[in-house]
Amino acid sequence: MPTTRRELLQVAGAATAAVALKAKSASAVDKTDVIIIGAGLSGLKAGIELAEQGYKVRVLEANSRVGGRAFTADHFSTKPELGASQIGPDYARVLDMCQRLDVKLGPGSNINAPFAYYVGGRIIKKEEWKSAKENKTVGDERAVLPQALFSYYLKKHMPFKAAEDWLEPSAAQYDVAPAVWLKSKGVSDEALRLMDTEASLLTLMQEEARGMTIFGTGNDSTKDRFQQYAESSQHVVGGTSRLPETMAKKLGDAVQLNKIVAEISMTTKDITVRCLDGSTYTAALAISAIPFKPLNRVSFAQPLQGMQAEAVRMMPYATNTQVYFALKGAPYWEQDGFDASLWSDGPVTNLRQSINYDGTRTRAMAFVTGKKGDRIDQLPPKDRAAFVLAELERMRPSLKDKLEVVGVHSWPQYMFVEGCRHSYNPGQVSRWAIDMIKPHGRLHFAGEHTRRLDVGMESAMESGERAAIEVIERLQG
Ligand SMILES: Cc1cc2nc3c(=O)[nH]c(=O)nc-3n(C[C@H](O)[C@H](O)[C@H](O)COP(=O)(O)OP(=O)(O)OC[C@H]3O[C@@H](n4cnc5c(N)ncnc54)[C@H](O)[C@@H]3O)c2cc1C
Repeated sequence: MPTTRRELLQVAGAATAAVALKAKSASAVDKTDVIIIGAGLSGLKAGIELAEQGYKVRVLEANSRVGGRAFTADHFSTKPELGASQIGPDYARVLDMCQRLDVKLGPGSNINAPFAYYVGGRIIKKEEWKSAKENKTVGDERAVLPQALFSYYLKKHMPFKAAEDWLEPSAAQYDVAPAVWLKSKGVSDEALRLMDTEASLLTLMQEEARGMTIFGTGNDSTKDRFQQYAESSQHVVGGTSRLPETMAKKLGDAVQLNKIVAEISMTTKDITVRCLDGSTYTAALAISAIPFKPLNRVSFAQPLQGMQAEAVRMMPYATNTQVYFALKGAPYWEQDGFDASLWSDGPVTNLRQSINYDGTRTRAMAFVTGKKGDRIDQLPPKDRAAFVLAELERMRPSLKDKLEVVGVHSWPQYMFVEGCRHSYNPGQVSRWAIDMIKPHGRLHFAGEHTRRLDVGMESAMESGERAAIEVIERLQG
């Protein structure tokens, strides 16, 4: 520690020199063909496509890791997936990327034990649901398990023949609140309460139509879409994060971490991107591969216009808070005789008891979605976990002393995404979906929110590929 005036001056001098050096390196402009903002799967896919065609790319990632919503919690003792894990049999681009980069895949993904139900204040076995007095649904609905209700109705009345039908002008009639359409199909109020879905029906219909083209039209009244996909999917061995990490490795030092993009400006010749640390990057074109919530914090010298500006400002994101557990002691499901996962109509959406890939059962996770998740996110993470634990033990006393909290994760509070997925409100698909992905001057758009046909990780890859093709056509043009 400096104590004399001379020592203090020496330290101050060294600090000034360091600041000057930083300012000098910050002002040196980095020039490439294409800048990609965001190193999630969409940005990395765009980067690889462009690099393979011989273009010089610079990928700027705000975080200290790549992958975005592909995020294996290596820092939690049980190493759960905080984001993506299921790789569907139809994920052509993801599967191709894994093969090309030698990323190992294993069978099945996100497989959970079957569910028991906590509805109307009582825990109910799935076999008893149909005749349970707490089941206040009506007619054929009674045989459908609560989490499968929405998918059941969508399949029963599906108007689309193909996954691309959602962008046809005639599909706008479905850009409404699901409750409005479901009521017209005779759904009971209790079924509506159990479904608790607010996003635009149109976007949900597209996802279901896509699932039907892959898995057929059979209506399984015991499983929701994720359960149906779990067994036919694959997972990345060692965790989903290994995929984006390997993709980033292929791009080498083109990928820069800890670069929070803050400003974008364009001339007739180029586009310049400035990060919060003062570093500046220039290229002929750029691709924004970041979700609209963080993009809304980027300042534009040439502001976005019309529907695109509106979509970036207002796009809703679905929310989801998760609490992860290690299991302790004797299996609670053997003690109480109910299936190990638990679906509830209370403040905790569900408890998923994960079956590990070697068949062992050592982990569980609680999901708290939508407004319920937002509500508990008002608590600090430690208190959030305590709340969830107390609620689970209240519903299912056999869980007492069986769950040890290993971590908490909130996607809405994760600054570089602020949600788990884009989620149009009624009326917004027809207003925004076409216009919001058009290039803004020299800036193109990728990311799962710009998807056309695919979902999840495959939609990120689909969008990165589309944006790369747009850019290549312009550069060659
Ligand atoms: C809980 C959960 C479960 C999921 N499960 C599955 C599943 O099983 N199967 C499946 O296929 N999909 C699943 N998904 C969806 C899948 O994870 C996403 O669709 C996909 O990873 C999105 O990729 P992306 O590149 O569009 O966006 P992101 O992954 O969000 O990448 C965006 C990147 O941009 C960076 N960024 C943000 N702001 C800035 C800035 N200002 N400057 C620079 N960089 C910035 C972020 O840090 C991030 O790395 C799941 C998602 C969640 C949240």
